[in-house]
Amino acid sequence: MTNNNFPEDYRFSYSALTLYEQCPYAFYCKYIKGLPDKPNFFSQYGTFMHFLLEKFAKGKSSSDEILQEYIKDFNKYVTELPQKADLRWSYFDKGFSYLEGFDGFSGEIYDVEKKFDIIMGGINLTGFIDLVLERDNKLIIMDHKSTAITSIRPKAKIEKAQRQLYLYSAWVFSAFGRMPDELIWNCFRDGKEVVVKFNIDDYNKTIDWMKDAVNRIQNEIEWSKIDNGYFCHNICSYLNNCGGYFSEN
Ligand code: SF4
Repeated sequence: MTNNNFPEDYRFSYSALTLYEQCPYAFYCKYIKGLPDKPNFFSQYGTFMHFLLEKFAKGKSSSDEILQEYIKDFNKYVTELPQKADLRWSYFDKGFSYLEGFDGFSGEIYDVEKKFDIIMGGINLTGFIDLVLERDNKLIIMDHKSTAITSIRPKAKIEKAQRQLYLYSAWVFSAFGRMPDELIWNCFRDGKEVVVKFNIDDYNKTIDWMKDAVNRIQNEIEWSKIDNGYFCHNICSYLNNCGGYFSEN
């Protein structure tokens, strides 16, 4: 018996679990109260780049066409401003450089923006996988990331970030009969990939982390607000709901 009765068919996602860990109150606003997301520059930019890369990977547009679309529609899709206005052009330039040099994903593409629902460790899990592909006989899960490579590479950050792709590995196993060989972040703003070799111990640790997080959510009663500094003021959709009195650092 838990304090929070989620319906039996409720599906958790990696984003929901990480939002809870970042700030239980933000989770409460989004997933319990159902308050809408507020668009911000970073989410719009990431969504636009994903949209273009998805079009290419599905064979709907060539690499040159997505570059032209990027130039033509950037202002249409990315309408919000970052707090530091010059970031907008630095992000634009890096996206432009990436797409200008982009000539496709090396390897054979199997799935693009794949929505999956799976039961994992007794928990209903849902998610979207940007790309599943095979390269040099290696099965790969690839995730496009707009964040800088330096914010993923440090060991402690990889250990957290890789949980997403380990959760996706369970679906890959169910669909392909084998675990992926590599988990890759396509850090397109830097034009580089960060590669993690699949490791069964880390996969099992991720299942344990997921079960623990779901258990804490189901028994949560306080829904505390956590000062996340920059995230609160630039990314979180619920600053106005929670009072927004935190520092901006
Ligand atoms: S603004 Fe900060 S404290 Fe408020 S809900 Fe968002 S993450 Fe939590």
